[in-house]
Amino acid sequence: MKLTVTGTGYVGIVTGTGFANLGNDVMCFDIDRDKISELSEGRLPIYEPGLTEIFKRNLDAGRLRFTTDTVEAMQGSDIIFICVGTPENAAGEADLTAVKQVATAIGKYMNGYKVVVNKSTVPVGTADMVAEIINQNQTEEIPFDVVSNPEFLREGAAVKDFENPDRIVIGTDSKKAEEIMTSLYRSKIRTGRPILITNIRSAEIIKYAGNAMLATRISFMNQLSQLCEATDGDIKDVARALGLDGRIGSRFLHAGLGYGGSCFPKDIKALISTLKQHGCDADLFEAVHRINEKQRTVAVKKLKAVMEIKDSTIAVWGLSFKPKTDDIREAPALTIIKDLHTLGAALHAYDPVAMENAKKELAMVTFFEDPYEAIRDCDALIVVTEWDEFRNLDMRAVKALLKKPVIVDGRNIYDPEEMRTLGFTYIGIGR
Ligand code: NAD
Repeated sequence: MKLTVTGTGYVGIVTGTGFANLGNDVMCFDIDRDKISELSEGRLPIYEPGLTEIFKRNLDAGRLRFTTDTVEAMQGSDIIFICVGTPENAAGEADLTAVKQVATAIGKYMNGYKVVVNKSTVPVGTADMVAEIINQNQTEEIPFDVVSNPEFLREGAAVKDFENPDRIVIGTDSKKAEEIMTSLYRSKIRTGRPILITNIRSAEIIKYAGNAMLATRISFMNQLSQLCEATDGDIKDVARALGLDGRIGSRFLHAGLGYGGSCFPKDIKALISTLKQHGCDADLFEAVHRINEKQRTVAVKKLKAVMEIKDSTIAVWGLSFKPKTDDIREAPALTIIKDLHTLGAALHAYDPVAMENAKKELAMVTFFEDPYEAIRDCDALIVVTEWDEFRNLDMRAVKALLKKPVIVDGRNIYDPEEMRTLGFTYIGIGR
C-alpha cells in the first residue's frame, strides 16, 4: 500500500519505518526541513533501540522516503497518517494547531479518496473537526474517511511495540475505511494480535483512558509512599505484594520522582480539560496530576533535610524521563536541576543518551561522559532515571569519589541496607 506519514517525531518515524518494513511504500512528511534532510541522509534524529537497522534497510530498499513537499505528500498515497505533535497549550489543553494544518493541506491538495488516520493523541471529537476542515478546504467534493487509530508505543520499546502490539484500535464508522485499515494491519492479525473496531469517539477516548490509568497507578503509589515513610513501611514490598495480586498486576507500581515525558503530563491535563468542557467531574485526574507535581519536588526536599544546598555541588544521574530514550520532555530531572540551581547549587550530570538534548535546556549544568567522573567531589548524588547501567556500578568507588556520601535514590534501585552498610546516607522513596 502507499502511505503518507505526516510528522516525523517518535511516533511518525516508528510508524513510517514499521509500515515500510511490512512492504508498504511510505512517504514521510514534515515541515522541519533539517529533520527531513537528516532522515533522507540516513540519520535518525531520535534514539530508539532497534530502529536504526530497520530504518536503514527500508531506506536503502526505497520503501521509505522523506519530503517537505506538501503536494507530493498529500497526493502520493491513499492513506494519510497524522502523527504530528499535540503539545499542551497555555490552557492545559491539547494544542491541535499541527493537526489542523495537516487537515487543511489534505483538503486543499487531495486528488482522490483518502483514508485519513489520526494517530496523534487528540481529544474526543477531533476526528469530526478534521473532517470539517478537510471539507472546508476542498475545491471539489472528493470522498474521504477519517479514522482514529491511537498509538500506544512506549519510547524505548517502540519498535517491539509496533511489531507486537497488545492490540490495535481502529475507530471508524466507514466499512470501506475499516477494510483498508484491517488489510493494512493484516500481518498483526496473523500473529494473533486483536484488532478492535470501535466507533471514532470511543477510539479517541481509549488513548486517554490508557495513559490516565497508568498515571493514576503511579500517583497512587507515590501517595502511599508517604505513608510508608511516616510509618517505617517499605513501598517496594507493598508494590511487590500488590503486583502479585492477579487483579492488579505488577506494572506501573513504582514509587519514584513522578511521571514525565511527552505523553502522561500533557494527556492527563488534556483529559481534565476535556472532561470539564463536557460538564463532567475531573477530580480523580486532578488529584493524579497534583500528586505528580508534588512528587517532582521530593528529591530536593529530602536533600534539604540532610544538607545545605547553597554552594554545594550536586550530581544527577539520568536526565531522560525514563530509561532507554533520549526524550527529556517534562523529565523530572529538569525540574530537580532547575530547583537546585535556584537554591544556589552547582550541578554535574550524566546520562547514557540524553545529554545532547539536555545541553540545549540546561546551560547551568556541567556534563560528563562517565557516571563516575560526574560525581567526583560532589556533595550528593541524585539518581533520577533508572538506567540499567546505574544498577551495577561499583558503589565503593561511588562513595570514594563523592565528597560526602549522600545519595537520593529517586527510583529505589539500590538496597537501603547495603547502602547504609557501605556508609552512605541513603535516601530512597517510601522506604
Ligand atoms: P514529536 O514532537 O516527536 O514530533 C512531532 C513532529 O510533527 C515534529 O517532527 C514536527 O516538526 C512535526 N510537525 C509539526 N507540525 C507539522 C505539520 N503541520 N506538518 C507536518 N509535520 C508537522 O511528537 P511525538 O512524540 O512523535 O508525538 C506525536 C503524537 O503522538 C502526539 O500527539 C503524541 O501525544 C502522540 N503519542 C506519542 C507517543 C510517544 O511515546 N512519543 C506515544 C503515543 C502517542
